[in-house]
Order: sequence, then C-alpha cells, then structure tokens
Amino acid sequence: MQNLFDIDNGERENLGITKCASCGRLGSPDSPKLLHNGSGGKRILLVGSQPTKKDDETGTLANSSFWTRVELLLRSHNIHMLRDCWIMNSVACHGASPNPKHIECCNPALRKFIDDNNPRLILAFGMDATRALLDWKKDFGGIQKWRGFTIPQSCYVCPMFGELDFHEENEAVNTLFRMDFENALSMYGMEPPQISCKVEVSDDIEYFMDKPVVAFDYETTGLKPDASGHRIVSCSLSDGDRTIAFMLDNRNMERLKTFLVSDVAKVAANMKFEEAWSRVYLGVKVKNWLHDTMLMSHVLDNRRGITSVKFQAYVRYGISDYDSEIAPFLKAEVDNGNAFNRIDEIPVDKLLEYNGMDSFIEYHVYQDQMKEYGI
Ligand code: SF4
Repeated sequence: MQNLFDIDNGERENLGITKCASCGRLGSPDSPKLLHNGSGGKRILLVGSQPTKKDDETGTLANSSFWTRVELLLRSHNIHMLRDCWIMNSVACHGASPNPKHIECCNPALRKFIDDNNPRLILAFGMDATRALLDWKKDFGGIQKWRGFTIPQSCYVCPMFGELDFHEENEAVNTLFRMDFENALSMYGMEPPQISCKVEVSDDIEYFMDKPVVAFDYETTGLKPDASGHRIVSCSLSDGDRTIAFMLDNRNMERLKTFLVSDVAKVAANMKFEEAWSRVYLGVKVKNWLHDTMLMSHVLDNRRGITSVKFQAYVRYGISDYDSEIAPFLKAEVDNGNAFNRIDEIPVDKLLEYNGMDSFIEYHVYQDQMKEYGI
C-alpha cells in the first residue's frame, strides 16, 4: 500500500503526485494520502471516488460495505480483489466530495499508474472515477449517462454505479449494478477495436453508386434550410472502406442528386436533417433510406444525451473530440434554427476531414447497431 504521507519529492514525481500544492485537499492534514493497494495479479484496476475515513485509519483501501459488495461479485468470478486487482481512487486524500479540480490535480498519478501497469480492464465506480478516467470534454452529465458502457481506451474502461449511488436499498440500482458488473468483466483482456479513417478529398460520387449501403452527411450554413441564403457547403460519403468528402459546387451538385435518388441504401445520423436539406436546397427527395444511427441509438438505449454520432464514436471506438476545433463555428450565435453559423471561416481541409469522419463513423455505428438489434 502506497502511503504518500512520508515520501520525498523525488518519489512523488515518480508517482505523478505533483499538484498537491494547488489541490485544496492538502488541507486534510490527517489524511495519509493513500494511492493504491492490491497486487494486480490479473491486472484489473478498480477505481472508486476517494479513500474512506476507515481507509485512513487502517492505512488500507476499500473498507466499506460497497467494496465488500464488489469483493463478493469478483469472488463469484474467481477473482480475488486484493490479489488479482489494484484499487485506486479518483483522489488519494479523504475529505469532502472531490470536485473537478481535486480530480484534475490527482489525475496524473492515476494516469501514470495506468501507463506503468497496463491494466487489462478498468472498472470505474461512480462519477468521480468516471470523470478521472475518461477524456470526454463536453457535456459530461452524471453516472446515469455513462453506466453500462464499455469504452475502449488502452483497455476497456467500464463506468458503473459507485459508493455514493447506493443511498438506500434500491433494487433497480442493485440490478443495474450487477448487470454492468457482469458486462464489464466480459470485456476482460479483450483488445479494444482499432478503427481509423482516411478521408479522401474527392467528389468521386460514382464510386458509391454500386455499393449496397452508403452513409452520407452534409455540413451546412445552419440547422434549417428554409431561410434565404442557406446552403449545403460540403458533403461526405462512406461505405466503411472508402470515405470521400467534397465541397458542394456546380461541378458535383447534379451528380450528388443522382446518388440521392438512386437505389443505393442510405444511412445518416438524424436523417431528417439530410432529408430536409436535400429537399429544400437540392430539390430532391432521398430514395431508399435504410438506417438512422440516432433513432436506432434511442431504440437500443433510451437514455438522454447518448445518441449523437460523437458520443457513439467515443463509447464504441474510443474516438474523442474530433469536432472540438470546428464545433464553435458550426453553432450559430443566436438560438434560432434559421440563424447562420460561421462555417465559411473553417479551413476547407479541416471541414472536409470532419465531414468525412461523420460519414465514416455513421457507417460503422450502423453496422454495429444492426448486429445489436439482431438484423
Ligand atoms: S488529492 Fe491527490 S493531488 Fe490532492 S492533495 Fe491529495 S494526493 Fe495531492
């Protein structure tokens, strides 16, 4: 068990504990600052919120009824908590509920431990642990949003309810916890998927005319096409193997329309958007819609905040934040569906890369959702 109370600065550096001075939890002088324990024989990392008072008193971690519950569940899978796992927390010091700054200050130690020890599975118990382990930068939401996903990082990171979520005997929470736990353990040792996308700047639309299924996506000057002056700026198409993106202009507009009214089965994320813009700006109705990844995300799991292609890219493929550079330009300054965004200020190469990624991810999400739905 690593007790940070007595170690020198050099050793702190080695462990990644370098931001204690700016972390308010230094004001808990009685806390021995417990970093981790367990031998990690099976290289499973269990991450909770913070050491308990009893942890502080005993100098060991995981002294609570919650951790006993975890221990029993692990034992039912022949996993010994202290022998086979490592135990850590989002912060190493006991105190008030950790805030995002505490978690950020203590995070280098957790990240360093992961880099040095290369776990084969990580279970994140509760929101503090989830926040500490995931690099999702947008609307983080609560544990309800994250629990149950198995998110590919260097290994699978599996958020589930934590100590604070068990206020009272709540059978629903218990059942979900057990389900998430089983699901997480099924990912033990599995290699996370490696998918990478090369977006070609090309308007070779004809290449896709004999493909059975193609995902397509528009980038536009706003949310709704109806106000005068709005236009589709770029378009991308993907069949999962090849992804192209191009600026829409007079050289390719008619060819795009030919694709849209063809028999090729089509996939989009929020297809009513592509349909509306096709009708108003291009004057055609899209033929042969096959799949909408947003609608299917909702059918498969009706929680809020999880249906966007960006969120799906993260929880399914570990692809994070590919839109962060350009997202501010795609949002109008006023909250009005007819307003104009600043898409014309985005460098063309960045816009097409982003646009292509959307189609590529949509195609892969479509394929995965079909399997999950049993089609
Ligand atoms: S929580 Fe971590 S960063 Fe903050 S004082 Fe304790 S050991 Fe240092």
